[in-house]
Amino acid sequence: MTDFKYSPILPKTRPDCEWVHLTSDYVKVVSMDGEQFLKVAPEALSVLSERAFKEISHFLRASHLGQLRAILDDSDASHNDHFVALEMLKNAVVAADQVLPMCQDTGTAIISGVRGDRVLVDGDDGEALARGVWQVYQTSNLRYSQVAPLTMFDEVNTATNLPAQIDLYAGKGMEYHFDFIQKGGGSANKTFLFQKTKAVLNPESLTQFIDETLRTLGTAACPPYHLAIVIGGTSAEANLKTVKAASTRGLDHLPEKGDGLGAAYRDREWEEIILGITRELGIGAQFGGKYFCHDVRVIRLPRHGASCPIGIGVSCSADRQAMAKITPEGLFLEKLEHDPSRFLPEVEMAEDDAVAVDLNQPMDQIRALLSQYPVKTRLKLTGTLIVARDSAHAKLLERLENEGSLPDYFKNHPVYYAGPAKTPEGLASGSFGPTTAGRMDSYVRQMQAAGGSMVMLAKGNRGREVREACKEYGGFYLGSIGGAAAKLALDAIRKVEVLEYPELGMEAVWRIEVENFPAFIIIDDKGNDFFNLG
Ligand code: SF4
Repeated sequence: MTDFKYSPILPKTRPDCEWVHLTSDYVKVVSMDGEQFLKVAPEALSVLSERAFKEISHFLRASHLGQLRAILDDSDASHNDHFVALEMLKNAVVAADQVLPMCQDTGTAIISGVRGDRVLVDGDDGEALARGVWQVYQTSNLRYSQVAPLTMFDEVNTATNLPAQIDLYAGKGMEYHFDFIQKGGGSANKTFLFQKTKAVLNPESLTQFIDETLRTLGTAACPPYHLAIVIGGTSAEANLKTVKAASTRGLDHLPEKGDGLGAAYRDREWEEIILGITRELGIGAQFGGKYFCHDVRVIRLPRHGASCPIGIGVSCSADRQAMAKITPEGLFLEKLEHDPSRFLPEVEMAEDDAVAVDLNQPMDQIRALLSQYPVKTRLKLTGTLIVARDSAHAKLLERLENEGSLPDYFKNHPVYYAGPAKTPEGLASGSFGPTTAGRMDSYVRQMQAAGGSMVMLAKGNRGREVREACKEYGGFYLGSIGGAAAKLALDAIRKVEVLEYPELGMEAVWRIEVENFPAFIIIDDKGNDFFNLG
């Protein structure tokens, strides 16, 4: 008989960090039957949750900012890598004023907690944590992105950003630990599960699989990414849960070798190999270069001999997470960087070689100007943009099918796929970055045939149908920098007004005036596509 040995797959602890002590209120140590317990008032959970989501809406980890700065200091990085990294650092500085959130997609609120067996909380922990989420989304300039189903096809925005995803687990001791994460839709959509087999577990096959898969990941989640790859797992869901934890760097303290009993470990050799692959892809930080990823985490898990799940996920440029804890000393939150300006270079690096585009000239002239430049050309756009995303496109298509034409505004101006966060008092716009273009791919051919969507602006790569439609109808797709929404709102958007369908909330059709709005040519009227150059 083999000896019993217990080796948990994943530790219940998190890596240590620098903490900020928020308060000593809400906690008290009590004795029962000669044993000590930590009594926590439920308000503590609401206060901690509210504070955590406020912090991560505006502040990043110093390590993440340091990685952006390292791109600027790397003379091998491309000009476009430098440009994107600098915009993101400037965006972090704008967001740190605590008015504009760093990204317009203020995400799904995700909370996971491990409550020690000597921690007592009155009432429902999940409800108390959700109350903190409700409070911060109501009182800050954050966006409500959650929609609830009424029937299979009818949905309503909950107007609170609830529900949150709250996962609570049991641990040991007199402490309650948390991870607070704000996960945008574009970033969440880049989580993938592959049901592979033992056949992939050799250097050649694994390299080939990773290389092919990363090429399809694209830029819709606003690189540079913190990439997480998990190989193995006792189930598909155990694999993907580990992907999420690894992408937040919550498993950085794992051992570097397996113990033969099934404990997870971090494979640093493969982290280096895969980072090397990402550097060679050529995609870079969205518009060509080497910084597709800041770093890579590779976690190896035990598996059933007949299964080999491989999970891949990212933390995007809105790298929003913080750890927190409640102890007998009170409430603590991970220290985030409140002075991101210290990461900016002393001298402005990027010289202004962008092509100026007047958006207020007739559409044919805008297209004639764009037609003179190759893909990857940097632009600065000034004039009127029409903003429309998923629900507005569905309405406009219905109109085209019923009435036979699109509204003039949709033919006369470029369309920006986006949906703003709330507009702060005294500012022209809330955080207003691009959304993922691919979701609008199926509309493009029909709309271009009707004279609309001739110049589109958004983030990420597009399908072949868009490339072919642009070639046939003389259209263009421009890429905007994903992950710099606060800076765009402050520096480049001058006026925002709802044009149609106000009932769609942030998904309404908007008219906005922009000035020197940064963009890149991604697809041109000759069928060239930056993401398909190879
Ligand atoms: S940075 Fe990009 S991927 Fe991340 S939440 Fe914002 S829009 Fe989504």
